[in-house]
Amino acid sequence: MLNGALFSVDYSEMVIVRDIDFYSLCEHHLLPFFGRCHVAYIPNGRVIGLSKIPRLVDIFSRRLQLQERMTNQIAETIREKIDPVGVAVVCEGTHLCMAMRGVQKQNSYTITSAMIGAFRDNARTRMEFLELLKQRSPGLGGLLGVEPVGVTCLDE
Ligand SMILES: [Zn+2]
Repeated sequence: MLNGALFSVDYSEMVIVRDIDFYSLCEHHLLPFFGRCHVAYIPNGRVIGLSKIPRLVDIFSRRLQLQERMTNQIAETIREKIDPVGVAVVCEGTHLCMAMRGVQKQNSYTITSAMIGAFRDNARTRMEFLELLKQRSPGLGGLLGVEPVGVTCLDE
């Protein structure tokens, strides 16, 4: 699905695409969940065209989904396609199925993350990415310093 979007560079800095909107449908309750994804990776010789990353988010959100799985699928696809030094995906979602059942307060949202390679193994790399996100999304501060976990509508 990323054919033609791959090219080689001599560039090993972190590449970040923030605030990618997504709209999806919870496969358990058939109710919408939606929010934003943030994607970062550290290239290992190959990069993905920046416009292709939102496309990837679209592909995995436009189906019956779970936020945790979507987060992992985006990260795994980037890993498979360009074998980077590391990939990180963080998604913030509002789940109508949870809001309607009073599981969360109205304005809260669920954060899920997938950290692969350098983002998993190197705390400094992970912090660098999360600090950049935190500047825009204060709620993500909760991810700093902890192993990120996600919980969505599965906990009935
Ligand atoms: Zn649900």
